[in-house]
Amino acid sequence: MKIEEQITALRDELRQHNYNYYVLDNASISDYDFDIKLKELQALEKAHPEFYDADSPSLRVGGEVTKNFKTVPHTFRMYSLDNSYSKEDLEDWEVRVKKMVDGEVTYACELKYDGASMSLTYENGSLVRAVTRGDGYRGDNVTANVKTINSVPLKLKGDYPELFEIRGEIVLPFDGFNAMNEERIEAGEEPYRNPRNTASGSLKLQDSSEVARRPLDCLLYSLVGNKLPVKTQMESLKKASEWGFKVPPVAKLASSIDEVLSFINYWDVHRHDLPYETDGVVVKVNNLQQQEELGYTSKAPRWAMAYKFKAEQVSTVLEEITYQVGRTGAITPVANLQPVELAGTTVKRASLHNADQIEKLDIRVGDTVFVEKGGEIIPKIIGVNLELRPTDSQPTEYISHCPDCGTELVRNEGDAKHFCPNEEGCPTQIIGRIQHFISRKAMDIEGLGGETVALLVNEGLIKNYADLYTLSVADILPLERMAQKSAENLVDGVLKSKEIVFERVLFALGIRFVGETVAKKLAKHFKSIDALMAASFEQLIAVDEIGDRIAESVLDFFKIPTQDLFSEMPQGETHREVIERLRSYGLQLAISEEELAGQTDTLNGATFVVSGVFTKVTRTELKKLIETNGGKVSSSISKKTSYVVAGDNMGPSKRTKAEDLEVSIISEDDFLAMIDK
Ligand code: AMP
Ligand code: ZN
Repeated sequence: MKIEEQITALRDELRQHNYNYYVLDNASISDYDFDIKLKELQALEKAHPEFYDADSPSLRVGGEVTKNFKTVPHTFRMYSLDNSYSKEDLEDWEVRVKKMVDGEVTYACELKYDGASMSLTYENGSLVRAVTRGDGYRGDNVTANVKTINSVPLKLKGDYPELFEIRGEIVLPFDGFNAMNEERIEAGEEPYRNPRNTASGSLKLQDSSEVARRPLDCLLYSLVGNKLPVKTQMESLKKASEWGFKVPPVAKLASSIDEVLSFINYWDVHRHDLPYETDGVVVKVNNLQQQEELGYTSKAPRWAMAYKFKAEQVSTVLEEITYQVGRTGAITPVANLQPVELAGTTVKRASLHNADQIEKLDIRVGDTVFVEKGGEIIPKIIGVNLELRPTDSQPTEYISHCPDCGTELVRNEGDAKHFCPNEEGCPTQIIGRIQHFISRKAMDIEGLGGETVALLVNEGLIKNYADLYTLSVADILPLERMAQKSAENLVDGVLKSKEIVFERVLFALGIRFVGETVAKKLAKHFKSIDALMAASFEQLIAVDEIGDRIAESVLDFFKIPTQDLFSEMPQGETHREVIERLRSYGLQLAISEEELAGQTDTLNGATFVVSGVFTKVTRTELKKLIETNGGKVSSSISKKTSYVVAGDNMGPSKRTKAEDLEVSIISEDDFLAMIDK
C-alpha cells in the first residue's frame, strides 16, 4: 500500500472507532489497540508531513497553545431563550404562537443541557471554527480546544451541506467531574464547584492538551445556515446525527402542550439518571417555515421556550457550623443541618466552601437554608430564607483560630481558604498527613488503617510518617484492641512499603499540589529526591505541566527554615530531616537502577487489572512490571480496561464483569510473554 493510502486508511479507521465510542457509546476496539494504531498514525504523519490533514484524529491529543482567544463575530446571532415555569406559561405561549402562524403547530421537545454553549462551523465536512456564545453577537474562537473533544466530529459523513453551523452545549459529565475533583482533593487543591463552570473554564485553557485530558462531551441540538436540507427541527436532529454528531436521542415530537407537559414531567424525574446536568426542557415549534414566520424578539426566538425544572431543592435549618482541618491545614467550614431528604438521600451536612461564601450569602446559625444537590458528591447551600430568620440572629463570625490546636489562622493572598500554620503541632494535620502517606495510592501500607494512625498519634507513639518505620510489635501491642497478629501485620506492612517506587513515595510525602500525576512527572524528570530538592524555580517550571504554583509549593516544602534565635519553642523536624530519616530506613528516594534499565514502553497506554494469586511473581512485582513497561494498573474493571491478568482464585464477579465488557483475560504466563520475560 502506498504511504498516503495507509495514512488515510488509518485515519478513517480511527475516526470510526472514535465515533463508535464517543458518539454511540459503543466501543469497537480496546483502548490499547486504539493507542497502538494512533501511535502508528502519528509516526507516519511525522515522517510524511506532506500528507498533513487538519482533520486527522491524531490531533485530538491537542498540543496547540492559545495565549489570547480571538473574539470573532457570529454569522448568525446566538440568542438566549425565554423561560417558562408552569403549564399556564406554556399555554400562553401557544396562544401567541397560534396567532402568528397558520396551520397545525407541533413541538419538538428537548432537554436543556447545562453547559457552555457553542457554535461549530463546518465547511465541506470539516470543522473550521468553534466559537463560544459570548454576548450573542461575538464570541471567543476556541477551535483548537474544541477539536480535542472526542465527540465533536472533525470530519462529517453522508450528505451534509457545504457550509453550515451547528449549535450545542459542551458539558462535563458528573463522573468525569467527580473524578477530577477527587484528584484535586488528593493534591490538596480546592475542588471545582460545578460541572458547568468547569466545562466553560476548560474551553479557555491555553494548552489544548490539557483540555484533551478533560472528559468533556458535546451535545448538539440545532442547525443554522442558509438553505439547509431540512424542514423541521426533528428532521435536523436526525440529519445531524447521520452526519456524525452526538445528538441525544431523547428529543420527542409533541402535538399539544399536554404532550409537552408529559415530556417535562417524565424528565423532571428521570433527568437524575442522566450522566450530565440538565436544567430544564426546551420546547421548539417543529416546523422551520413556521419558525421563520415567528422570528425573534430582541433577545430570544419566539418559536422556542425553555421550561426550567425546579432544582431539586429543600429547605432545612442550619444547626451549627463546624470547621474541618485538612491534612494541608486548609480549613473547610461545614454546615450541620437538620437531617432532610433530598434526591433520594438523607442530607445532614453541606459544604460552605470558605469565609467569603458564608459572607456573600450571609449564612447564619439558626437560619432556614435552601439546599441543592446535583450529581456532585457534596450538596450545597444556595441561599437563606430571610423571612424565617430568627429575630435574635447574629451574623456568622468566621473562626480566627484553629479548632484543633488553637493556633491563629492565616489567609494568604489569593487563597480562598484560611490555613492553620501549625503544621508540626496540629493533630488533625499530623494525622491527616500520615493517613495520606499510608493510603492505597501512596505507600499502600497493608495492616494499617486510618483509625490506627489516629490512635498511634494520640498515644504519642508517632509524630510523623517517618516514625512509622521505628515501630515495633512491642510498642503497639499495648494499644487498645491490638492483637499480636494485627501488630505483626502492621509492622510487616510498614516493612514492605520500603519497596514502593520513588514516584509513589514522592506522592506520599504530601507536598501541596503534588498529586499522583504531578509526582509521576517530577519523579520521571528529576529521577531522585536529591535532584528535586536541589532544583530551582526555573528548573521546576521547565518540566512539562509544572506551573508556578506547584513549583513554589515544592520549594516551600524543602526550604531550610531560618532559625528563630529568640524563639523558645523547640523546632520540629524539618522536611529535609524527615527525608534523611526515610532514606536511612531504606525507602526508595530515587528511580531504581532496574527501573531505569527495565523501563520500556511495550505496554504503552494499556490498562491492566490484576486479580488472584500468582506463582512466578508477587502481585506487587506484577504491578511494578506493568508500570515499568509503560502500562497502567487500575483496581476495577471497566470499558477502559485492556487486560485482566488472572491468577489463581480470581474473583467470580470480576470474571463475569470482564466477560460482560469483553475485556481480554490473560494468564500470568501470557503477561510475562507480552513483556518478553
Ligand atoms: P439561557 O442561557 O437560560 O438564556 O438559555 C439559552 C441557552 O440554553 C442556549 O444558549 C443554549 O446554550 C442552552 N441550551 C441547552 N440545551 C438546549 C437545547 N436543547 N436547545 C436550545 N438551547 C439549549
Ligand atoms: Zn491547627
